[in-house]
Order: sequence, then structure tokens, then C-alpha cells
Amino acid sequence: IVAAAGPVMEKDVTSVSATGLPRTAVVGVLGGGQLGRMMALAAANMGVRLKCLDPTPDAPAAVAAEHVQGHFRDAAAIEDFVKSKGVDVLTMEIEHINTDALMQAASDVKVDIEPSPATIRVIQDKFAQKQHFAAHGVPLPQFRNIKCRGCMEGTGKAFGYPFMLKAKRLAYDGRGNYVVHSEADIDSAVAALGGYEAGLYAERFAPFVKELAVMVVRSRDGKVVSYPIVETIHKNNICHVTEAPADVPPAVHVKAREVAEKAISCLEGAGIFGVEMFLLGDGTLLLNEVAPRPHNSGHYTMDGCVTSQFENHVRAVLGWPLGETRLTSGCAIMLNLLGEADGDEGVRLAHDLMAKAYNTPGCKVHWYGKDGMKVGRKVGHINILAASREEARAKLGALDPAGLAALQ
Ligand code: ATP
Ligand code: MG
Ligand code: MG
Repeated sequence: IVAAAGPVMEKDVTSVSATGLPRTAVVGVLGGGQLGRMMALAAANMGVRLKCLDPTPDAPAAVAAEHVQGHFRDAAAIEDFVKSKGVDVLTMEIEHINTDALMQAASDVKVDIEPSPATIRVIQDKFAQKQHFAAHGVPLPQFRNIKCRGCMEGTGKAFGYPFMLKAKRLAYDGRGNYVVHSEADIDSAVAALGGYEAGLYAERFAPFVKELAVMVVRSRDGKVVSYPIVETIHKNNICHVTEAPADVPPAVHVKAREVAEKAISCLEGAGIFGVEMFLLGDGTLLLNEVAPRPHNSGHYTMDGCVTSQFENHVRAVLGWPLGETRLTSGCAIMLNLLGEADGDEGVRLAHDLMAKAYNTPGCKVHWYGKDGMKVGRKVGHINILAASREEARAKLGALDPAGLAALQ
């Protein structure tokens, strides 16, 4: 039984799902950070109360979800969560989960997992992910497995320098990447990523002119719908600004959506996916990586599109009809609120920026309610909406001149 507000409905209420899930199905989420929070808020607006499993006492998602304290990597905790909370569909806000535990839970307790554990398993190992997409004809930078110093030297000769050395697992915000500039860098690169036994692979350096991203939502019956293309700008490897629609030729918009939809079509399970791509000078698009969950590059959809990425994720995992993905304003820029200092000083600086946003028409503030402020930490974001790109950029410039400079 689940209801965010209003009368409590019994589980056998007439189904609106193509796949037979009751309208009142209980959705459990592994992880209760900001993505879980925004998912829970979107769900609450649809009369669905999420339940989230997260180890932190003050999980940001608890504002709109029932929070169960426990680790999303612990098989017993997942199993107990599913059983005691009557979870019908289990989804996640993070891909770095224990898929063995997930598969164990799926076989011990009858629960739907969306997207499927097999998809999470492929994606969480970046090398396996690359192999999977290559086998399905998705364009990628060349890559190869790295097991020894000889492999590194051979890669330098084959790919040329610089090339990217990457950790296969547990990578985020660029931690797990190393740019290898010459043969002299090899030992320090490998050591920085934990040694050959940690699981490493190499990628040819992509000389991109822009980084693009596309959100794609996949229904339980395998239908795939993409969102408009955004340009992403990173600061110290962390997403800083995104702009939708990306300032690229019409043909690139079409092609990027095709590549993204193709990539998500060859995965299993329902939900929202973030697809990161490189645009090269000659118009070539190469896939960088996929996230099997809501993604920072899709935060603009909360105010900029008919249906937010979070709403569409909830619709998808429940088997409900997917919502329209088109932009509702001419341009939607997202500016991340990243901690500028630790503690109170960081909070003060973030509040200053938020105050500017409240004074700027078309700006929407999203604060994550995290416990504690640290340099570089994602604590919120601001969506900037305007009829034109020029107008949206002018507003961005008023809030964050460096963000605007990076976009131009
Ligand atoms: P995320 O926080 O997005 O999960 P991550 O730690 O998984 O990041 P990647 O997305 O693999 O890291 O890479 C981070 C950034 O490094 C990319 O956005 C891009 O700017 C750069 N990069 C990654 N791979 C390449 C490549 N092959 N060639 C050039 N630049 C690259
Ligand atoms: Mg990543
Ligand atoms: Mg990335």
C-alpha cells in the first residue's frame, strides 16, 4: 500500500501499466542522495511514495521518500528492505552497487529490478561497457585491456600519446582517469590508479571540440525515447554547466540522438539513462560512457522539459506511459552549485549565488539538503530558462562569469 497524500489505495487497484504492475506498486530505490531525492519528489507529485535504502542517517531523499537506513551494497540489507517494505520494483540512483547481492536478492525475493542487474553489471565495469557497445556497433574511441607494462608501451605505440588510462570500476568525477603523456608517465599513471591488478584499460584520446550528453528513457517493453542534446562543461572533471539545446548543427542533434538511442536499445531493463559523448571536429560522435540512472546532464529537464528525467524514470520502472521529452523554453542552462569552501563559508557563498538566482527571472533553484558543505561537493543546481540562447547565457553570465566563459 502506498500513497504520498490522500486516500490510501489497495494494491489491486486497476492497473495502468502495460505489464501488469498495480498502480500502487511500491518502488524501492537503492541510494538516497540527491538523485534519489529528486526522483522521490517527482514520484510524490504522481502519488507514488518511494522507499529508499541508504546508509547515511540524513539521506537527502528522506524529504520525500521513506528512508530505510542500510547499505545498498549489502545483500542482506537489500533483501530485508525488499521484504519488509513490500517492494515490487527495485531501482537505483547509483551504479556502484554490488550486482551479486542484487542478483541474489532478485532470486531470493521475487522483485523486479529496473534496469536489470545485467545492465548494471555491464555498465559498472567501464571496460565491459566498452566491449558491449563495440559489439553492438556503437561508435567509441578505440580501447584496449591493460594488464602489464608491455601493454602500456604497446598502447602508446598504437594509439600515440597522450592516451587515457582508466580504472575499470568505481570511477566518477574523473577519479579513475589518468592522461598518459609519454612513456615516462607509465609507472606513475598505473600507480595512481592502483596498479595493474586493480583492473585498468586504455582509450585513445578523443580530440573533441565539445562534450555532449543525451538522456534516454527506456520503457519496460523496450521503447526508447531521447531528450534534447545538451553540451556539458566540466570544471576539475565535475559537471559545472550544461546548455540545452547544444549549440551544434542540426545534423549533429539528429546523429547524437541516434547514437544514444542505439546504445540504450542494446541494454536490458527500464529506466532513464545518461549518455555522454564526444563531438569531434569533423562531426564524428563517439560514445564516452553511459550511466544507468538519472544524470547531472539531465537536471535541466526538471524545469526545461515537459517531463523531467526523474518523472520519466518513475514512469518507466512502473510500466506507465513515458512522458514527452521536448523542451518547453527556447534554452535551458543548468549551473551546478559546487561547494566553494568547507563549512559555513561554503554555505554562505552558495546562498549568495542562490540569492542572485532568486533575483533573476527564469531561474529555478534546487537545493539537495546534504549534511555538510565541502569544496567541490555538489550541493544543488540552478536551472536558467529563457526564450533564446543569448538571453539564457546573459543570465548565466550574471550568476557565474566563469561558467559563461567556459561555454562560449
Ligand atoms: P563521471 O563523473 O561522468 O562518471 P568518470 O570519472 O566516469 O566521470 P569519464 O567520463 O570516463 O570519467 O571521463 C571524465 C572526463 O575525462 C570526460 O568527460 C572527458 O572530459 C575526459 N575524457 C574521458 N575519456 C576521454 C578520452 N578518451 N579522450 C579525451 N578525453 C576524455
Ligand atoms: Mg562515469
Ligand atoms: Mg563521465
